Amino acid sequence: MRKIALITGASAGIGTATAEILAENGYNLIVTGRRKGLLDKLKSELGVKFKSDVLVLNFDIRDRAQTEAAIDSLPKSWKNVDVLINNAGLAAGLAPIQEGSADDWDQMIDTNIRGLLYITRKVAPLMVKRGYGHIVNITSIAAKEVYENGNVYCATKHAVDALTRGMRIDLVKHGVKVTSIAPGMVNTEFSLVRFKGDKARADKVYEGLAPLSADDVAEAVWFALSRPAHVNINDMLLMPTAQANITTTVRKQNLSQTETS
Ligand code: NAP
Repeated sequence: MRKIALITGASAGIGTATAEILAENGYNLIVTGRRKGLLDKLKSELGVKFKSDVLVLNFDIRDRAQTEAAIDSLPKSWKNVDVLINNAGLAAGLAPIQEGSADDWDQMIDTNIRGLLYITRKVAPLMVKRGYGHIVNITSIAAKEVYENGNVYCATKHAVDALTRGMRIDLVKHGVKVTSIAPGMVNTEFSLVRFKGDKARADKVYEGLAPLSADDVAEAVWFALSRPAHVNINDMLLMPTAQANITTTVRKQNLSQTETS
């Protein structure tokens, strides 16, 4: 029988790539997000390519009532969720604390922390009931370090790091694994969202270096999920080779400028 994975934020980036690798490895999927069109497209692609059954749940994870209703709406056979990938998240803005937008802060806190909690609160009991499951939280290098103007985004990811460790303690006695996958810079819609559609500014983030791809992160997720029953990957930090830590990157044009100037 095919396993079932629920992936939040599957309409783009790391979530879409994770849906693809899990479908390729025989999973049926519950995919969530606000952009229904993208989720429907993913459903038909994965159905054709991998014969996966895909169920689309279209809701805003910041809305507790919508999130609870979405999980309650699952048909009985879809409630046997083996894997929960807590991936939906974002950075909004990049500003010093004294100038930050409270709306941006609310959006990050509500999505990255509250949303993750709402869905986990609904799905974890289904796993506890079966004495089996695996929760993968997509944290970040920003869960381990902080950077200039990244204050609230880093705080939300630090919170998810703490939640990951806390969940693991609470769930260990129920046979549920909990993993954190913490990527450095990944080329997805992340920067476009952070800079509110300013593509030129978003592209600059990745200029002159090879960032991780969403597929690189999905492969790390799959590595964690495919370990034997007695092995848990607690925490995996993966970085682009050109990024030593959250603030130290090496970019080709900087090098050539240095070389020529
Ligand atoms: P992305 O391409 O922008 O994808 C973000 C996903 O989150 C989308 O599918 C989006 O779906 C969903 N989402 C955002 N707000 C939502 C909401 N209110 N309700 C439901 N779904 C929501 O970014 P990504 O890079 O793949 O990000 C995925 C995760 O990786 C995030 O948690 C991010 O913090 C983390 N991460 C990213 C990087 C990076 O450099 N890219 C590095 C480390 C960690 P809809 O817009 O359709 O709702």
